[in-house]
Amino acid sequence: MDLKQYVTIVEDWPKPGIRFKDITTLMDNGEAYKYATDQIVAYAKEKDIDLVVGPEARGFIIGCPVAYALGVGFAPVRKEGKLPRETVKVDYGLEYGKDVLTIHKDAIKPGQRVLITDDLLATGGTIEATIKLVEELGGVVAGIAFLIELTYLDGRSKLDNHDILTLMEF
Ligand code: IMP
Repeated sequence: MDLKQYVTIVEDWPKPGIRFKDITTLMDNGEAYKYATDQIVAYAKEKDIDLVVGPEARGFIIGCPVAYALGVGFAPVRKEGKLPRETVKVDYGLEYGKDVLTIHKDAIKPGQRVLITDDLLATGGTIEATIKLVEELGGVVAGIAFLIELTYLDGRSKLDNHDILTLMEF
């Protein structure tokens, strides 16, 4: 299946010059969403995954159906102040300024093999921060899966040693 036909390019959003890749038109098509999920599940099965971890909010949309299909758990990575119990946190760079991502301190058991999911790899900052959280808790990043990679931003270079699956390149 050619998944790209289900991604809508939105010109000049959220600001002039950006060509936003809108995946909602892939998600609201049952066949396309299932096909994309099945590709990631097949990848994850090769990696012997114990847990799926994804950053809010689109990392949940990709990761939760994969976790369900594998019969493993899902642990959310969220912005600071959203998780109710003790967390570990990491600062990460945004285009302007900084933000903080957090995960519950007991979300990962040392040695667990983790699949990280998100919709899109741009500069790699979000997933670089997510990797730090997983590794701080003793998790092993066994694979990282995205629907889309913006290859011209070379986010992949920030995720150097890790195994990466991307279903589409722009
Ligand atoms: P990065 O941290 O620069 O790799 O940015 C990736 C994050 O920004 C992901 O969590 C995406 O959801 C979001 N993002 C950046 N550009 C787009 C886009 O064109 N479409 C959808 N999400 C985007």
